[in-house]
Amino acid sequence: MQKKRKFLLFSFYTIFIFFFKIKFSNNLFANFYKKNQTVVLTHKIVLRHLISKNHPEKSERILELINLLKKKKLGILIREINLKTNVKNWIKTIHSNFHINSLKIKYPVGEESSLTAVKGCIHGIDKIMKKDCKNVFCAVRPPGHHALNTGKHEGFCYYNHIAISAKYIQKKYKLKKILIIDWDYHHGNSTELFFYDDPSVLFFSTHDEKAYPRTGSPYRIGAGKGKGYNVNIHLQCGTNDDEIIDIYKNKLVKKANLFGPEFILISAGFDSRKDDPLGCFNISDKGFKKLTLIALEIAEKHCNGRVLSILEGGYNIEGNAKAAVKHIETLNNFNKII
Ligand SMILES: [Zn+2]
Repeated sequence: MQKKRKFLLFSFYTIFIFFFKIKFSNNLFANFYKKNQTVVLTHKIVLRHLISKNHPEKSERILELINLLKKKKLGILIREINLKTNVKNWIKTIHSNFHINSLKIKYPVGEESSLTAVKGCIHGIDKIMKKDCKNVFCAVRPPGHHALNTGKHEGFCYYNHIAISAKYIQKKYKLKKILIIDWDYHHGNSTELFFYDDPSVLFFSTHDEKAYPRTGSPYRIGAGKGKGYNVNIHLQCGTNDDEIIDIYKNKLVKKANLFGPEFILISAGFDSRKDDPLGCFNISDKGFKKLTLIALEIAEKHCNGRVLSILEGGYNIEGNAKAAVKHIETLNNFNKII
């Protein structure tokens, strides 16, 4: 009788511990997921690239951003880019062999940095698609949205990371419709070029048409089947939060709802922030928070929140870090905010 009681007691205890463990670990997982839905991908390789002394596109842009993230106790989001990610063939969906070989010979360090950025984007997309996280920010350099196939860098850019990402999502994961949002101060002329007649990629860019590379006319709306899928919006010097938010709330949301994106990519340039040495807009960190929220609301409505954001420009070292961290905080806290 005593033996039976002992056995029953032991069984009860084992079952209790088992369920307690499951519940506890589930709660832990749920809490972690609730608290953190963003991964920030970076790698020390992107710090090596040096164009020239005093050049604005420098490694401090990334260092300060990472430092500020850690100060804000968001260091937990940072992961290293997997360098084993195979991107060779994906780069070729956008860039010619001539361009790739020429970059490798002329600027081996710059090419390696941009190559690492591409690896970060592909790694990030895989993470989102595997549901390891909800969205990703790639803290990488150099920027990419001016990169052409000229065999040299254009506007500090070597490979077009965002264009390669769009092709990768379409070919690898068979998601057809990609929305690319570009809020860098400069027009993403290369992104426009590669998808100008492509109705599967909606390119929405706000920029200063009068700045480098002096492209981005609002009259350029796409060609052939891609007509209507290229949206250029020129903003004047001094453009503030209210003005840019109004454009995103009205024009972007309308376009995106008609398009129905299956994945959203953001060319996140913060040279459109106030006090940038290369820009003349007056957008605050709160403004970038609002733009991020608009993008996330579209993503939530159409594509389960799938967003990959890539650092483009941003040359005020402190300002770039503040705006990028505000952007990352918003990406990470979206469900708590709405
Ligand atoms: Zn820029």
